[in-house]
Order: sequence, then structure tokens, then C-alpha cells
Amino acid sequence: MSRCAYVNGRYIPLRQAAVNVEDRGYQFADGVYEVCEVRDGRLVDERRHVDRLVRSLGELRIAMPMSRAALGAVLRETVQRNRVRDGIVYLQITRGVARRDHAFPAADTQPSVVVTARSLDRAANERVAADGIAVITVPENRWPRVDIKSVSLLPNVLAKQAARDAGAKEAWFVDAAGRVTEGSSTNAWIVTRDGKLVTRQTDHAILRGITRTVLLDLLKDQGLRLEERPFSVEEAYAAREAFVTSASQIVMPVVQIDGRPVGNGAPGLLASALRRDFHKYAESA
Ligand code: PMP
Repeated sequence: MSRCAYVNGRYIPLRQAAVNVEDRGYQFADGVYEVCEVRDGRLVDERRHVDRLVRSLGELRIAMPMSRAALGAVLRETVQRNRVRDGIVYLQITRGVARRDHAFPAADTQPSVVVTARSLDRAANERVAADGIAVITVPENRWPRVDIKSVSLLPNVLAKQAARDAGAKEAWFVDAAGRVTEGSSTNAWIVTRDGKLVTRQTDHAILRGITRTVLLDLLKDQGLRLEERPFSVEEAYAAREAFVTSASQIVMPVVQIDGRPVGNGAPGLLASALRRDFHKYAESA
């Protein structure tokens, strides 16, 4: 079955799907995106993802190009046409096509909308989670508004490649004070020796991950101890457990940081339990 993409109102075979070379997403990374998990053919936490999309668009003063209901229909249709049962749906909205000029184009410029969907191998993901992943740390070098889910991801791309080059799966950004902000495509968590979960508070220095938000509900419900605050790299080295969260990886145990084993070097019990229970708390539709 060949894949297709939604591009500005039409479903087009993926190999032919294209945007104008003067699209501001292509020229300036002037756009935002969302990635939503698809599980058993359903969208996970669509409402929260669309809420965040609306916020990101608002921060960049890009108009929402269609109603939430219409957008939901496009997301679902793209998932179905690509026959995705387990995987992700990707949505990108840019400020549209205009002659290249840094300042905003005319107010009647239509935002561009692209949606793609693809399957992920759930069993393979479970095998990765059973082993856990290695992370490296890299200096934070992104702009101070990474709470906006902008398609401008060059530092994230370079950080992820640095991780790959080091034989690791993720890179954690570390701010000037030596404290972890987040991963290149994930939020970062540790469990301290005395069993407290620690993850950075949501300010402009991290993306407010939807998986992170849902996990907070789970933790509250299960009476687990949480501290929303920055943690240092040293604290992470000394942690009992570490893990990362994202829509495509859910809760992924971290077993090594900068080549040092975390805890006993195996996925933590808490991280594994949170991974198992996550979908009881996520919304699915
Ligand atoms: N931080 C960054 C930089 C990301 O790219 C992502 C993934 N979109 C996340 C955190 C996790 O967010 P979510 O749980 O909504 O996927």
C-alpha cells in the first residue's frame, strides 16, 4: 500500500506530495508542528495536542487554518488512508507561500497545512524499552522560546546526530548553570535515590510535552512524589533511574548517561511501571 500525504486540501501520493519553494516553512522554518501517537488506529491525546498547536500558532501569530473539527477529520483520514494502526500522525502548519521577505506576508496569505502518517513497529519499540537507551549531554544552544513547537529544529537535529555518533539514542541539553533542560525530542526525568520523580518545570526553556502532562496526572493519582524543578547533570549521574517521554516513545528508560550506568544499569522499575500504565491515563479517540 502506497503512502499518501494531505497537502492543502488534497490527499496526494507521498512521492508526489510537495510544497511551493517559497513556502515560509521551507525558507524560514516559519511554522509549527505536532506529532500525535496512533494506537490501535486511534489518536492518543488529540485534544491536548490540538490545544498546544493552537497555542504555538498564537505565539507566532499564524491563523488556525481550519476548525478543530475539520483538522481532526483530516488527521483521522490521513491515518486511515495510510492504514496506520500503531504509529504517528505528523501535522505541520506554516505561514504560507509568499515572495521571500523576512517580515510577515500580506494578511490574506493562506497558511500551508501538511499531514502525514506512518506506522511504527510497536514490538520493536518494546524491545528497545526492555533494554533502555543511552543518552549523552550537550550544551543548550537553542533560542529561549522552545515552548513554541516550531519546525525550527536545527540544534535538535545536530544534538540527535551527536548522540547517534556517540552510540546513544538521545541527547539532553544542559543549560549554562549545568542543569538539564530536555532531550532533543523528549522531556527528561530522573528518580532520585529516595524515590522522588524530578522533571523540569514548564517555562520557556522546555516544550510542555503532552506525554509529560499525562504522566503528571498518573503520578498524582498513584500518590508518587514529584518535584518540578531543574536537575543537574551530577544529580542525573547519581539518580536511581532516568527516563525520557514523548508521544512516539511514551516512557523510555535511560540506562546510561555520558557512558555512566544509571542505577544498576538496567531499566528502572518505576519507569517500566509508568510505561505500562501510561495509556490508562491518556485519552484515545
Ligand atoms: N521536547 C521536545 C524538544 C520534543 O520535540 C518533544 C516531542 N515532540 C517533546 C519534548 C515531548 O513532547 P510530547 O510528549 O508532546 O511528544
